[in-house]
Amino acid sequence: MKTYEKIFINGKWQEASSNDYKEVTNTSTEEVIAKVKSSTEDDVDQAVQAAKNAFNEWNELKPEERAEYVQKILDGIKERQEEIAETITKELGSAKKFSKNTQAQISVREMEATLKDFKNYTFEEELNNTTVLKEGAGVVACITPWNYPLNQIQRKVTPALLAGNTVVVKPASETPLTAFIYAEIVEKAGLPAGVFNLVTGKGSIIGDYLAGHEDVAVISFTGSTEVGKGLYEKASTNVKKIVLELGGKSVMLYLEGGDLEAAIKQSAGTVIDNQGQTCSALSRLLVPKEKLEETEAFIKEYYKDIKVGNPADDDVRVGPMVSEDQYNTVLDYIKKGKEEGAEVLVGGNAIEGKGFFIEPTVFTNVTNDMTIAREEIFGPVLTVLTYDTVEEAIEIANDSPYGLSGAVVGPQEEAVAVARKLRTGNVTVNQGDRNPSAPFGGYKESGFGRENGTYAIEDYVELKAIFK
Ligand code: NAP
Repeated sequence: MKTYEKIFINGKWQEASSNDYKEVTNTSTEEVIAKVKSSTEDDVDQAVQAAKNAFNEWNELKPEERAEYVQKILDGIKERQEEIAETITKELGSAKKFSKNTQAQISVREMEATLKDFKNYTFEEELNNTTVLKEGAGVVACITPWNYPLNQIQRKVTPALLAGNTVVVKPASETPLTAFIYAEIVEKAGLPAGVFNLVTGKGSIIGDYLAGHEDVAVISFTGSTEVGKGLYEKASTNVKKIVLELGGKSVMLYLEGGDLEAAIKQSAGTVIDNQGQTCSALSRLLVPKEKLEETEAFIKEYYKDIKVGNPADDDVRVGPMVSEDQYNTVLDYIKKGKEEGAEVLVGGNAIEGKGFFIEPTVFTNVTNDMTIAREEIFGPVLTVLTYDTVEEAIEIANDSPYGLSGAVVGPQEEAVAVARKLRTGNVTVNQGDRNPSAPFGGYKESGFGRENGTYAIEDYVELKAIFK
């Protein structure tokens, strides 16, 4: 077991000054794999001060000079792909293949796309007698969740740094080990001292203190809608900018005439991989009533081959939930689904023994007013709903407090027309590839602000007009 005592402030590793440690567990075996010392408010003050001191010089660098440093971070991530994937499998529990091909790889794809697009991004334009400038906003507090331990950090730090800001990162307590690797990569990339800082500790104490710090200009938060709402209020006290990437309850809308099996595989895949702990998971599968029987038959067949077990094994697709808390939350939702009258088609139980394993579960006979159709479960649970007309399907899809993602499978032209009517930040039509240059973010209680590509940079700049 490794003990992490240090945090990264002002270009150096220094000892966190509390006496508290948070244990990091391998959730397959429940064995403690690391202990991480928590930061104190004083440590946060030092990190914010370092970031504040570094801001002017960093903001005044040429954009291409900042991009060179970010390119070095990308090179470091590429070099340590294997170690990143292994660490994520241990601390989060995502299956080996998923950790390698998605968790570790996605940062490479997204950073490559952003750096390419950034070459054409302009910080200055002339408007008659006026120069309109974009410049960094200041110190950004990056507070991240555990479900994609590397990419959630990358999605904030990359655009914030490119835009001219300096950052203080507070990663999720369940998955801090990947954040330490990221900080080591930044150290090796040789960024000026204070541009990137990493603190540890409990979100409700250290995250809360960091977000409210008077020298923080932007709060960039990804996590639950509940915590996001609290931070939104906090931001208002001294009028900070805030970026909120929150929860989701997204729909896969299948239209008559489309490839039903492809639609089922896509939506089921999002609640099977990563144990359904994905904000954009298509956890509501919506099919025409007359297709229900065929849908159920295919689901039963498809789920037969899904192997649950130790995520480090090659053939396992579903690992354990990230923590005992998350395990209990998901089981409570499954219980609630049964109580409210939904029917368990597949799974529906915890798996006995060590580790926080839950059977991949599918509910049918679900109506959109049931708790399992309205609230984000963030677990391996799919709900199947039915509709009579396409208009009704669109209504059901949009009848959600969330608006993060969506998908439509059907005849292409009709599917695109339906996609246009969904009130969500992104929609996939007939398995269209996710474009890493395109904006990612939500409507409604899924938050605001956008990640990825140069769209993300807009959230981290101030606009200035100089009249001449
Ligand atoms: P969470 O409990 O809201 O925590 C997220 C981060 O906030 C963690 O670093 C946490 O620290 C910290 N935190 C907790 N309370 C805080 C407070 N009062 N003030 C400041 N920081 C605080 O969310 P989670 O359980 O880690 O992640 C799951 C949620 O994230 C889901 O709802 C999911 O949909 C959402 N998510 C959204 C997106 C998106 O792009 N829209 C992407 C991924 C995940 P601790 O870990 O120390 O508690």
